[in-house]
Amino acid sequence: MLGFEDKVVVVTGGNRGIGAAIVALLENLGAKVAYNYRSSPGEAGTLPIQADVTKPDEMAAMMEQVEAERGPVYGVVCNAGITRDGLAPNLTQDDWDQGIDINLTGSWNAVKAVLPKMYERKEGALVFISSIVGEHGNIGQANYAASKGAVISLAKALALEGARYGVRANTVAPGFIETDMLKPIPEKVQEKIIRQIPMRRFGKPEEIAWACAFLLSPEACCVITGETVAVNGGHHT
Ligand code: NDP
Repeated sequence: MLGFEDKVVVVTGGNRGIGAAIVALLENLGAKVAYNYRSSPGEAGTLPIQADVTKPDEMAAMMEQVEAERGPVYGVVCNAGITRDGLAPNLTQDDWDQGIDINLTGSWNAVKAVLPKMYERKEGALVFISSIVGEHGNIGQANYAASKGAVISLAKALALEGARYGVRANTVAPGFIETDMLKPIPEKVQEKIIRQIPMRRFGKPEEIAWACAFLLSPEACCVITGETVAVNGGHHT
């Protein structure tokens, strides 16, 4: 369905949370899916590979393995990400570096490892997972906001450049989604956030997965590129 039969898609951080939902949905839609993880492989019945997105050589080796075992990579979803929160004066150099290295450079490393082949084959679709915080900023998340805003710009640049090579690049900007990432937010703060969301609830990982599937689809989405799709229950401030 949606043209995914025989298409190979790689999802970064596919072992849990939003990434695991993307892996599961794409598999159900007929794609051949591989994903990487850092700590433990998770439970998806596909091709899990241990690889750190901050290490270009590990991402290159991963893409080679996927192409050898599954075939030419058609799509990449750059999903792996972290938060390291704190008011700006309290952010350590390590907080800053980790946020940028994993969220921004990690996305670049995943794409860079396969983009030359996509350009050669004149086919490909990239989806970057940004955040509502990348669009609007947030108190206590200067590092995260900077990395997630940059991911949107990266997608726009690759969309312009990739168009002549048949490669599309789009971004999904989730609002607050029920995963481990929300766990450090105190319950009272979560309740306050929910009151700010017009639909009065957090999103579910599967709802992000559907947006990714649409943007990746060679049938449903063949002329959409450089776009950012907000999936946030109307939470646009
Ligand atoms: P989780 O914390 O549940 O999962 C994070 C994922 O990223 C894990 O699979 C983790 O792998 C992987 N990861 C982290 N660092 C690395 C690394 N160096 N190399 C490889 N994999 C890594 O987060 P979510 O599922 O909630 O988030 C997924 C994406 O969605 C992130 O980019 C996040 O910023 C974004 N997002 C999430 C929102 C939310 O409210 N949940 C809102 C907006 C955006 P491992 O388990 O092995 O560490």
